[in-house]
Amino acid sequence: MAQYGLIEAGGTKFVLGIADETRAIAARHQIPTTTPQEVLDASVAWFRDHGLTAPKAIGIASFGPLDLDRASPTWGHITRTPKPHWSGADLVTPFAQAFGCPVAIDTDVNGAALSEHRWGAGVGFGSLLYLTIGTGIGGGFVGDGGALLRGLSHPEMGHIRLARHPQDHNFPGCCPFHGDCFEGLTAGPAIKGRWGVSLSDLPQDHPADGIIAWYVGQAICTFQAIMEPARIVLGGGVMHAPGILDKIRAAASQLGAGYFVGDPRDLVVAPVLGDNAGLLGALALAMDEVSGG
Ligand code: ZN
Repeated sequence: MAQYGLIEAGGTKFVLGIADETRAIAARHQIPTTTPQEVLDASVAWFRDHGLTAPKAIGIASFGPLDLDRASPTWGHITRTPKPHWSGADLVTPFAQAFGCPVAIDTDVNGAALSEHRWGAGVGFGSLLYLTIGTGIGGGFVGDGGALLRGLSHPEMGHIRLARHPQDHNFPGCCPFHGDCFEGLTAGPAIKGRWGVSLSDLPQDHPADGIIAWYVGQAICTFQAIMEPARIVLGGGVMHAPGILDKIRAAASQLGAGYFVGDPRDLVVAPVLGDNAGLLGALALAMDEVSGG
């Protein structure tokens, strides 16, 4: 059976895996995200040491932003990241040269959207929006034909503008580009910036829950207005806070006022692929690369 090399490239660690079309992950490994040279060399070496000799394709689901324009000389490179050493890093060429196979690359959140649509929370549903709310906020949308939403590059759904919560006018927001965009108000650093701890560490009756749920609810209504997803999957560390998913469903339903086709109380769900979502996202990208999907 054909083998695929899988890479979940994160800001703190790279997770590597080897799998076939059955999605059984035969081996997995983690490497701390130090410098591109170290991490990419170690990744190639690990794949070789674990029997990946003639992969059908390699899939990379990466932190971004990424250059995803196939016509660009820097396709597959990380673009402008505040992460030291990684701006301009070429994630594709080391694997293409080492293994001589097609290499697919997209954002980690687009990978998660694809894998949840195909094998997880989206099974039986035509379209799916995946939002991750953690250290940052990102979103990926898979439409009815199974294709990811793209324009000049991948979407940047974390950077939409939202109305301020009536009890949240003092915090300036912490997006280095926009201040109080969705990410600047709602991601983990924005929660710590206001209340000093993560949402999970605050009591469930703390006003933070209502404020964060209200922002995510607004964002959901915005994306419903644009795309009417059949499923909305919310992942990321902030979603680990007990009870937050139900508060977001209620806020989105109230703010949507019954206008949209789907009710967020039915549409909005947790991811089902868990720890494997990243590697399975890389597998979906790799399989699509060789099937022309
Ligand atoms: Zn922003």
